[in-house]
Amino acid sequence: HPDSTAVIGAGIAGLACARSLADAGRPVTVFEKGRGPGGRMSSRHLTGAVVELGAQYFSVRDADFGEQVATWQRAGVVAPWPAVVWRLTTGRPSRRSDDRPRFTGTPRMSALLRHLAGDLPLHTATRIVALENADDGWRLISEAGTRHGLFATVVLALPAPQAEALVAPHDADLAEACRGIPQRACWAGWARFDAPLPPLPGLATDWQVLELAEGPLRLVTRNQTKPGREAQGESLTLLARLDWSERRLEEDAGSVSARLLDALQAALPEGVTLPMPRHSGAHRWRFAQPAALPGSGFPDFRQGESGLALCGDAWRDARVEDAWLSGHRLGRALACRPPIPHATEIP
Ligand code: FAD
Repeated sequence: HPDSTAVIGAGIAGLACARSLADAGRPVTVFEKGRGPGGRMSSRHLTGAVVELGAQYFSVRDADFGEQVATWQRAGVVAPWPAVVWRLTTGRPSRRSDDRPRFTGTPRMSALLRHLAGDLPLHTATRIVALENADDGWRLISEAGTRHGLFATVVLALPAPQAEALVAPHDADLAEACRGIPQRACWAGWARFDAPLPPLPGLATDWQVLELAEGPLRLVTRNQTKPGREAQGESLTLLARLDWSERRLEEDAGSVSARLLDALQAALPEGVTLPMPRHSGAHRWRFAQPAALPGSGFPDFRQGESGLALCGDAWRDARVEDAWLSGHRLGRALACRPPIPHATEIP
């Protein structure tokens, strides 16, 4: 169809964009290199546990996003979590004082993304390696050599460096905008234990999230305290600081995982010993979050003259809410254009 849109990337931004277009009756097809939707909100299945290695939870500031989250809550795919964020400073715990509502996907983060994908046409395990500009629209070339199209519009809902590689041969302005948003990297560790963690002095025994003020780790979450996961055993996510991660970006996952567990042990009060994990590992996010942001006064997305457009957290801020807003608003803007009639519909 001459009016159709291709969305590359089935993270929350790409799916929000595709959903806005589909809700307006516009034809849209989504392409994702991973095995399923999710991106930086995908979940990892271990034996006996599911852990999140990307976003652990998200907050709500914007009214439109708040309405969307309420709809997801009614559909049973998000729930409030955590109740309290604890902070550990030189071994001393304190409660984080803001009372902003926070949510997570239930029974896992990827359930929200699957709900959003719904019945949208979605090609998974399809990495797009090039775009081809034909007279009558765009074609997408996959790594396997398949050509998809034609599409009037191509949305790149990707971290800026990945979008840049695809737009550079076709749109110098969009490529330049992408170069202005380099990405930071983050190592995310996980560990599953047979026994619960020992109680930490000053913290409730059922603590859910711990921010660490110093050392290699910045956040520790307990996945079994997330709504819908109560049956799984002690299973931690350990997020490293970005500068620490970047210094060890090319280290192997096994040694990074061991370092992150050592860092947790070192941060715990004296006399508290971590049990031995049954399984542990680490995931490297090369493109974890934008290093710079476009700043206020810019739109929430970018549109080129050529029929290419960009959305995602790079164009607003490094959060789930911002990625959703960027994609949703681009989808609404694209849906407002007058529909292009199919050749056979032209009188
Ligand atoms: P992504 O989720 O990155 O989606 C891009 C998609 O494109 C991916 O699925 C990818 O596989 C796909 N893709 C890439 N290249 C291609 C290609 N060539 N062809 C096809 N598909 C392709 N946010 C919060 O609000 N709160 C938090 O606590 C929080 N913590 C975080 C912790 C970590 C460790 C990380 C990494 C992120 C965290 N975030 C958090 C940020 C949040 O996860 C992101 O802002 C949001 O998920 C970005 O969504 P997106 O759709 O813009 O991009």
